[in-house]
Amino acid sequence: MTVAAALRSTLGDIVDVTEDSLEAARADSSGHSSPGRPLAVVHAETIEHVQQTMRIAAEGRTPVVVRGAGTGLAGGANAGPGEIVLSTMRMNRVLEVRPDDLFAVVEPGILNAELNALLAERGMWWPPDPASRDISTVGGNIATGAGGLLCAKYGVVRDAVLGVDVVLADGRLLHLGHRSVKGVTGLDLTSLMIGSEGTLGVVVGATLKLRRLVVGEICTLTALFPTVRAAAAGSAAVTASGAQPAIMELMDAKALAAVHALLALPLPSAGTSQLTIQTDGPAAQPEADRIAATLRECGGQVTLTYDSHEGERLLAIRRSMHGAMAALGTTLIEDVSVPRSALPAMYDEITRIEHTYALDIPTVAHAGDGNLHPNFIFEGDVVPEQVWAAADDLFRSAIRLGGTLTGEHGIGMLKSRWLAEELGDAQWQLQRQIKAVFDPLGILNPGKVFVSA
Ligand SMILES: Cc1cc2nc3c(=O)[nH]c(=O)nc-3n(C[C@H](O)[C@H](O)[C@H](O)COP(=O)(O)OP(=O)(O)OC[C@H]3O[C@@H](n4cnc5c(N)ncnc54)[C@H](O)[C@@H]3O)c2cc1C
Repeated sequence: MTVAAALRSTLGDIVDVTEDSLEAARADSSGHSSPGRPLAVVHAETIEHVQQTMRIAAEGRTPVVVRGAGTGLAGGANAGPGEIVLSTMRMNRVLEVRPDDLFAVVEPGILNAELNALLAERGMWWPPDPASRDISTVGGNIATGAGGLLCAKYGVVRDAVLGVDVVLADGRLLHLGHRSVKGVTGLDLTSLMIGSEGTLGVVVGATLKLRRLVVGEICTLTALFPTVRAAAAGSAAVTASGAQPAIMELMDAKALAAVHALLALPLPSAGTSQLTIQTDGPAAQPEADRIAATLRECGGQVTLTYDSHEGERLLAIRRSMHGAMAALGTTLIEDVSVPRSALPAMYDEITRIEHTYALDIPTVAHAGDGNLHPNFIFEGDVVPEQVWAAADDLFRSAIRLGGTLTGEHGIGMLKSRWLAEELGDAQWQLQRQIKAVFDPLGILNPGKVFVSA
């Protein structure tokens, strides 16, 4: 019996072999596709469905690619010939909300924004806020270790998960972590699962750490600077001043011009780069005033509003970045991260790389945490060699500055060739041994993350 037939005889109608579904599973939002269609898509609705799928896969040594909403930017959910796609999108229930203990237990397929809309009705929220929060799943957020605009103040996924339920490659179900605030029993396997990109197990449930909604106002500032280095130095000065903005985003001149063009706004003068900052909570106004003073001392031309609607209008410029890049061509969105004080030096490196490879690299940064998204734009579906050469230079520059290959998008298939270099031999071997303990047959997301150089 073929694998698809075995799946169908055990799981029935939730096994999907329609052309459209198989075709859609070849790609995530990175712009890259697998070379062909997978065997079948299993739309799991229960933990039992996931376990049955994994048992059939293990028996036939058939690779499995777990898939949330497919908004990933590293090719991690791309599935190809001979592979089963295990979709968790239909496992989308909120199982428990505990306002007294500030946690919620959810299934992996719920969308981040849907969860937060439900929590808001009860005066709470789950802080990780990827820009894709309307379209990405909590399971995918956990599997990639996602971040977002607010994470400098409120933390990333890693700071907001108490436990995960995981189905292993052989179908066993594990409950990792705890429901208590504290808990140090044994090794921290919950943390190991966060950011594991579908290579160690299938996340089938999560106990999420919640916060109460922030009371007080939201104040928004923009500051224009004549160069990106000056803007980066401005953001470093804000961090060094001890202020804690909720959001601090930097757009270089090329990024800012592209968004202004998309939104039909007057074009900024050449070289102009912009910081967009929000403060929140009871001390939002005095904190915004202090940040404005710091930025003026750094040469910034500051606009400050205490009006939240006007603030959202200013922030919409930053939120339009993805659309502005898409309008320019195919985009390889990179994701390096450096210590915050190294932000000006990293922008210097990007300028150098632009000159060396004759490329424009519009770059935005979550400046509050030193995470940059340089965008390589090109025509067609295949990343040109020159772009890969420039990306290679970019990664090495970030690592030299004490940073890392990826701040929030993950390794997937697109960055696997650089992983061993950042980790070093000893850690590379250890990480592959850990992968083999969880998945001895190597059936979970093969060809992603841990690929031999
Ligand atoms: C417009 C746009 C803006 C974005 N902004 C941000 C941002 O601000 N911050 C950020 O961090 N990312 C961002 N992303 C990237 C992406 O949305 C995140 O990586 C997100 O967490 C992926 O969730 P998903 O449900 O789409 O997962 P998918 O793309 O389906 O999968 C991503 C990876 O997780 C694995 N996976 C998915 N679900 C599970 C599961 N249940 N168990 C085990 N493994 C699983 C997959 O195998 C794959 O390796 C953005 C993407 C877009 C398109």
